[in-house]
Amino acid sequence: MLDYHLHLWEHGPRPLEVTLEQVAAYCDRATAAGVAEVALTEHLSRFRQADAVLKGWWDDDPSPALAAAMRQAWDEEVGADLDEYVEVVLAAKAAGLPVVLGLEVDHYAGRMDVVGDLLAGYPFDVLLGSVHWIGSWGFDNWFEPAFADEWDRRGTEAVWGAYTDALEELAASGACDVLAHPDLCKVTGRRPAVPDEWYDRMAEAAARCGLAAEVSSAGLRKPVGEAYPAPDLLARFAAAGVPFTTASDAHRLDRVAECRSELRDLLATAGCTTLQAYRGRTPRTVPLG
Ligand SMILES: [Zn+2]
Ligand SMILES: [Zn+2]
Repeated sequence: MLDYHLHLWEHGPRPLEVTLEQVAAYCDRATAAGVAEVALTEHLSRFRQADAVLKGWWDDDPSPALAAAMRQAWDEEVGADLDEYVEVVLAAKAAGLPVVLGLEVDHYAGRMDVVGDLLAGYPFDVLLGSVHWIGSWGFDNWFEPAFADEWDRRGTEAVWGAYTDALEELAASGACDVLAHPDLCKVTGRRPAVPDEWYDRMAEAAARCGLAAEVSSAGLRKPVGEAYPAPDLLARFAAAGVPFTTASDAHRLDRVAECRSELRDLLATAGCTTLQAYRGRTPRTVPLG
């Protein structure tokens, strides 16, 4: 097993420090749970270096209310130093800990070239691609009053369509290796009666762009109460030859490797016996375990 999606910090304003001890504790917990290797994948949006080149991207949104809410959420979360993060994770790796250097890269509509230029300066092992917002609407912050009403205003099928458009652009950008929580648009439990059209597009995007798909237990902690991706989407990825990673998307130590046996069962049901690990953004096949 792998846990290829881990955060050091919970959401919200907080001190954004990274230490070797913190990374070692994540590795220890993963190893004790039978996980062979972890990837630290902090959100790109938490780093000052991203703020310097991307801040204000929300101004393109025609809704001043959504743009203001996104600005506030962004400003509350940003502040870490990307150089320090990279240095500490590389030191952990050099010390022999079973960790690789990653990042969770958000989709910035029309600005992925800026993101690519920023990422090119660092020796990442694996980059996750995530769609967390549509325009400046943070659709997966369903608990934020400023964002919650949009679900009813737009309608489920329109949201799934816009999400999938963004996923396709992100996949084609070259800025990621793995599609994180690929059907995050189901987070609140709203989904089209027949989601096949969107599932087909998500699987085709991953296959066309040579990406892996993440099997994540994070959805089990959300209103939808189901791992990402849904079994039907997972089967489509498998049929399209898309490899998989497994992940907890933990934002704190006690969730590292959470629900790993559920993820293993999902993959086994789809006939998968291997996962994809990465070094220097080059994939290799490892046993599911
Ligand atoms: Zn995410
Ligand atoms: Zn995450």
